[in-house]
Amino acid sequence: MNTSPKTALEWPVDRIPGIGQKRATALQNAGLYTIGDLVYYFPRRYLDRSTVTRINRLKPDQEVTVVARVIQFTVQKGRRSRFVLVVGDGTGFLHCIWFSRLPYWYKAFKPGEWLALSGKVGFFKGLQMVHPEFDRLGVTGEGEQVHTGKIIPLYPSSEPLGQAGFDSRGFRRILHTVLKNWGDQIDETIPAELAERLGLAPLRQALSAIHFPADFATLQAARMRLKFDELFFMELLVALRRRHQQEGTGGIRFEKVGELTRRLVESLPFALTGAQKRVLRQIRADMKSPRPMHRLLQGDVGSGKTVVALITMLIAVENGYQAALMAPTEILAEQHYLTIKEMLRELEVEVVLLVGGQGRSERGELLDRIASGEARIIIGTHALIQESVDFHQLGLVVIDEQHRFGVMQRATLREKGLNPDLLVMTATPIPRTLTMTVYGDLDVSIIDELPANRKPVKTFWRDESRRSKIYHFLRSRVSEGAQAFIVFPLVEESEKSDLKAAVESYEAMSATFFKDFRIGLIHGRMKPEEKEATMAAFKRHELQILVSTTVIEVGVDVPNASIMVVEHAERFGLTQLHQLRGRVGRGSRQSFCILVSYGALTEEARTRLETLAVTSDGFKIAEVDLQLRGPGEFFGTRQHGLPELRLADPSRDLELLRLARDEAFRLVEADPQLRDQESLGTRHYFVRNYQERFGLAWVG
Ligand code: ADP
Ligand code: MG
Repeated sequence: MNTSPKTALEWPVDRIPGIGQKRATALQNAGLYTIGDLVYYFPRRYLDRSTVTRINRLKPDQEVTVVARVIQFTVQKGRRSRFVLVVGDGTGFLHCIWFSRLPYWYKAFKPGEWLALSGKVGFFKGLQMVHPEFDRLGVTGEGEQVHTGKIIPLYPSSEPLGQAGFDSRGFRRILHTVLKNWGDQIDETIPAELAERLGLAPLRQALSAIHFPADFATLQAARMRLKFDELFFMELLVALRRRHQQEGTGGIRFEKVGELTRRLVESLPFALTGAQKRVLRQIRADMKSPRPMHRLLQGDVGSGKTVVALITMLIAVENGYQAALMAPTEILAEQHYLTIKEMLRELEVEVVLLVGGQGRSERGELLDRIASGEARIIIGTHALIQESVDFHQLGLVVIDEQHRFGVMQRATLREKGLNPDLLVMTATPIPRTLTMTVYGDLDVSIIDELPANRKPVKTFWRDESRRSKIYHFLRSRVSEGAQAFIVFPLVEESEKSDLKAAVESYEAMSATFFKDFRIGLIHGRMKPEEKEATMAAFKRHELQILVSTTVIEVGVDVPNASIMVVEHAERFGLTQLHQLRGRVGRGSRQSFCILVSYGALTEEARTRLETLAVTSDGFKIAEVDLQLRGPGEFFGTRQHGLPELRLADPSRDLELLRLARDEAFRLVEADPQLRDQESLGTRHYFVRNYQERFGLAWVG
């Protein structure tokens, strides 16, 4: 492919006058490599008269932005030393206070410099703002302009960017230069007919106005156009993926429905639910057809996805193929391995487990069995997609907890077979309104029914001060034969201290409160064999209490475990807690989930814990989660192999999203290769920004 830069927008940032190696590096570190990246680096907000408050209008407790000049500053020594910056805007003076990094602040400002300061107004011998956020507006010019109504964009920055001169003001300058010099090289990205029909602003105009709007109406129109572009190209990606899949023939026909599946179903200690049967019919139909299956299996925690996956894998096996199941964590992979081996006890199907921590010779042996075809069902983690793994005849790929994997990883595993069928599973319910957008390239099956005789988990939220009561309760239940999980949070940012806290608590508990119980510990840092042994011991009821970090979050299946205590529940996300809770309530015992929180909680944390205490409906929980976290976090759009959205918000811009989706699908229908003269701009933009990054095997 010819990758030589075509327009100035693809030039590296060091081609801009005034940007040397050092400044270019700062931009690159922030992900801004080309002039085009800068053009798409949007302001985080705007200042003008209507968004700014005059100092003589300030009242205590307001959250405001003030635009004012630096008059003077001093460090005041005292019991609590402080840096005091006095600013004025012609109507009055305001004191801005910092209590830390005094020498830094002392060098930070120049008298006469204009600043936009945002924060809460306080009163202490006069109006003041403590630790305000601020942007620099320069020594002359922009500061005054704000008060005459001109709109000034404020850009996101960071300390390294700021040090290279890219504070808000630095970005304004460079964008001014960029748009002046090369703005006329911005090519239109959507067909003219479309822009006209929908009344969308031309791209050039929109990109110029989002940086330097003449007024708010123009800004509004610019944002609308750019949001449309984001959503349109996202949906174009989805539409093209879908089309690509539907055109795909060359898939495998799994025609035989044979012995293995029949014997498995007969050997199960339960009857399949109606929903499981329905979903399996859909899967069978897919597998029979020559078009490769691309199916998403959605089902709340505990709805019984594993057995559906296993039956699907057996269909592949009895047709002479191998099936691979990839799970996001070792614990989960091991768990699947144990469960599946157990379920297959009476059938002769060779199952293997491939994970990261296995020894060299063990691994070599496993790889041989996978390559020779002796292993029929291969379960593993990311280890499955490594280059050294060769399959004999891979016919089916199953991905569990699919939101943990990217589209690329999905694709890499599929490429190890010859157009194998794909089943992806998720326990994260997606609000129905949005399913078709995010998973638009997959057919969807939903298990919307839990196995009968499930007693809902009783969920309580308690403050940490009630701990000894909680533990008494736990002791009495465990004495009666129940098993319990005690879960500690562990997040990447504070992994070390989190792990330490969990291990120390475990040690304290096993030495004191639970010393006459059989109690075990499991966490991500243990060796795979250790984890496996501990899990197996818990499954066999050799352990009564299992202390763990969040490694057990997904997929662990021990029906006799009926109590879960979640420590520091306020630190967990809503869906995460829901998933955790799904580890209990799987057997005939009444189950309990006790969420233990520490200290005063934020509004959001309270909402999460309250929601969990009153509902166990995964869809309701997902809706609340979506509201709390916003769509970006919720979807992990990147994880779905979808572009990041900067301006658009699928939950708020639902109408625009529908429009974009309709138009994208219509375009792909009419001109699948985007070859018409009218579509060329769209094609170029798509190829440059989407195709490769999002792994679409579309070469037109
Ligand atoms: P998830 O959908 O969360 O992955 P699992 O597949 O782990 O759920 O199933 C949860 C539990 O329910 C397991 O113990 C499984 O054996 C059991 N199970 C699955 N299907 C049924 C059914 N139809 N009737 C009763 N129990 C079932
Ligand atoms: Mg599962």
